[in-house]
Amino acid sequence: MTETPLMRQYREIKAQHADAVLFFRMGDFYEMFLDDAKLAARELGLTLTSRNNGGAADVPLAGVPVKAAGEYVRRLVERGHRVAICEQVEDPKVAKGLVKRAVIETITPGAALTDDLLDGNRNNFLVAVDPGRPVGLAAVDLSTGECMLETVPNADLAGAVARYNPREIVLPEGAEPPAGLPGGVLLTRREAWEYDHAHAEDEIARRFGLKGLDGLGVTAEDRPALRAAGALLHYIAALQPAGVPQLACPSVRRAGDTMPLDDMTRRNLELVDPLRAGDTATTLLAVLDRTGTPMGARLLRRWLLEPLRAVEPIRARLDGVSVLVADARGRDRLREALEGIRDVERLGGRAAAGRASPRDLGVLRDSLARLPDVKAALDGLAARETSALLDGHAHGLDLVADLAELLAARLAARPPATVGDGESIRAGADPELDTQRDLRDGGKAFIASLQARERERTGIGSLKVGYNRVFGYYLEVTRTHRDLVPPEWERRQTLTGAERYVTAELKEYETRVLGAEECALARERELLAELGIAVRERLERIQRTARLSAELDVLLAFAETAVRESYVRPEVTDGFVLDLKASRHPVVERLLPRGAFVPNDVLLDESSRVLLLTGPNMAGKSTILRQVGLTVLMAQVGCYVPADQATIGVVDRLFTRVGASDDVSRGQSTFMVEMHETSAILRGATARSLVLLDEIGRGTSTYDGVAIAWAVTEHLHDQVGCKTIFATHYHELTQLTEELAHAANANVAARESGDDVVFLYRLQPGGADRSYGIHVGRLAGLPPAVVARAETILALLEDGHHVAGRPVPPSPDLSQLTLFDSEHPVLTDLRGLDLDRLTPLEALQQLAALRRRLEE
Ligand code: ADP
Ligand code: MG
Repeated sequence: MTETPLMRQYREIKAQHADAVLFFRMGDFYEMFLDDAKLAARELGLTLTSRNNGGAADVPLAGVPVKAAGEYVRRLVERGHRVAICEQVEDPKVAKGLVKRAVIETITPGAALTDDLLDGNRNNFLVAVDPGRPVGLAAVDLSTGECMLETVPNADLAGAVARYNPREIVLPEGAEPPAGLPGGVLLTRREAWEYDHAHAEDEIARRFGLKGLDGLGVTAEDRPALRAAGALLHYIAALQPAGVPQLACPSVRRAGDTMPLDDMTRRNLELVDPLRAGDTATTLLAVLDRTGTPMGARLLRRWLLEPLRAVEPIRARLDGVSVLVADARGRDRLREALEGIRDVERLGGRAAAGRASPRDLGVLRDSLARLPDVKAALDGLAARETSALLDGHAHGLDLVADLAELLAARLAARPPATVGDGESIRAGADPELDTQRDLRDGGKAFIASLQARERERTGIGSLKVGYNRVFGYYLEVTRTHRDLVPPEWERRQTLTGAERYVTAELKEYETRVLGAEECALARERELLAELGIAVRERLERIQRTARLSAELDVLLAFAETAVRESYVRPEVTDGFVLDLKASRHPVVERLLPRGAFVPNDVLLDESSRVLLLTGPNMAGKSTILRQVGLTVLMAQVGCYVPADQATIGVVDRLFTRVGASDDVSRGQSTFMVEMHETSAILRGATARSLVLLDEIGRGTSTYDGVAIAWAVTEHLHDQVGCKTIFATHYHELTQLTEELAHAANANVAARESGDDVVFLYRLQPGGADRSYGIHVGRLAGLPPAVVARAETILALLEDGHHVAGRPVPPSPDLSQLTLFDSEHPVLTDLRGLDLDRLTPLEALQQLAALRRRLEE
């Protein structure tokens, strides 16, 4: 049995795109065959049919109309599939035999260019990983043209990948995917040689038109990132055989510029994504995002995920915010100007690639037209010169005026979404186009005048001139007047009540009209393509301006939030001290009625590096812990902070850990994970880090938990010397500070009121004396009998009694335990006595002293 030539062609093309759903163009449809057809039927709800394959077995088939294909592509890509678009690459009318077909583009989650596949507020990074030691990362956003390279220690890989939040990751065949990837990320495997270093250098040099890579400022240390970039560019070229969108020169990022944030920290502080999906009001991003442009929204998200580590660049941003905070009118002017700027970064890229619609070009024109206002607003800012950043932007803002003028001169006022749906190019912009349009309009006018003339000539009062796509222009006569029709009219169509005719004259003008219309359309296309080229020639300038506007937008959003929420400028220093006066939680305070949030002072300095935070459940421990983390992070992003006063010694890393059972979004048996992450902190933290531990050790039994918490805190205190806040409801741990020279206790106050607990949310020195667990149980509605019984048992336990015949578990008073010291301190001291040197009298005194200590 022989296969049809068409099926053979299909199979050959499909073999080269085995991992993609192949949209195979046949006339006005894209057809999918075999497994692709079944997948499409399942994922898109299409009806599966079958095609007879030249006598061979039936081939399952599903198709979508070309006109509606965009929506189907979107749905497939959103579900993590790749879609290869295979077109007829020669005109079927002139093709001899089978029409030639070829894949012109493969659309994947990480390589999407159209608006329906992109979120305006997020970058869409495609990330390649070179999994060596250290790891290389390359990230490209095809829609904005950004390209970044970085080489990171293996321990930071997951965090670095997460910062890009990619929907697709490129890995060499056989390599393990980075740990902790969220579900739904598409893994793309490429052959190992694509990661070869020499190949990478070639690929990068070719893509960016460089002689060598020296111009990029790369060193031998960046080799892993270069290898990843080589593989990534190779892959992108394979996806876009017709030409890759223009990319900006790669920017090389160095560890040390920004603060690595691990997954747990990013998630628990709810920086950009909420812990509970959907509830975005709980994120820091939601509080700060007053940006007015998509570029600004994307940049803000990125800044939050990569706080700075050096004092100078942080102060530079803060200086900018300060200028804007101080000038309310200037703020409003700048906001108004920025608001009119749309996504010029993506529009520019699309136009340069020849993919922009006339409407896109119109939006680009309107956005560029706002730039002079932005510049004027910047120029008019009071005390602008106190911010090098704003001053620099005021001078450096490229208005791309030549392009703005060109677009304004050429484009129609409201260009249509598709060419031909209205005029894209304005009248007077191009003589040739004007001529064709005049011919077309003249022809139309003549045809319209024909109606009056022929009416008069024939005496048919109801005669009408009309047009339809099939028959072109015609003269319509109602049936009753049929007899009056002159013999030279040619009948074309008979309707129920009327007849339609054409005349030689009408046909002649019709040809002129249609010909002119076609010429006008072709000329419009040419002119639009010219505009695309004009954009391409200026793309770097457009993108630089876009990035500058994004930065202005974010600084302005910081300033607006600062004013609205009464934040202060933090004093950012190279010192150790973290001193917050009347600090608030930026998110929680907004979720409570205004003024209901209780501010607190928090001080971490050399004498109290470790703050042990105790207090009953629901007292506000976790809130304080997180607000300190968020405040430090906000300061290092260059934002004002929710406090009356803040001095912040910059931290090199910020770690947040939440005990397993407090972490709602994780499943069971996570104690192991918790310990894993805790050990990562102990290895990763330095004296300049800030470590926030919330109920660590809770995922196991009380004693285990307390023991681990104790040992971890001791290690951070003795070995690492970093700033640490440890929140725990194990009030037993407060004894720990007696042994640690640089630690202090604090507790979040609660007051008993009758049988109930009133939470004051006030931080005060000293440890909590008890847990109030039973009170909280009562508040939560435990039946009175259960509460009463719990109180009885508690009293018995505290007095060291047995409860109902069962042995009492060891008392939780840790001074009684040998858990933390392997022996009693009196024994240790006894062992330490140098008997050879003691006089008998001294020996007796020591003995008495030891005995006294035992009796205490
Ligand atoms: P804990 O960790 O001690 O169990 P949380 O920090 O989770 O307590 O706080 C419990 C709730 O108390 C929060 O959801 C918030 O509504 C409220 N709360 C916490 N801190 C404050 C505060 N400073 N002022 C007002 N309400 C607060
Ligand atoms: Mg808590």
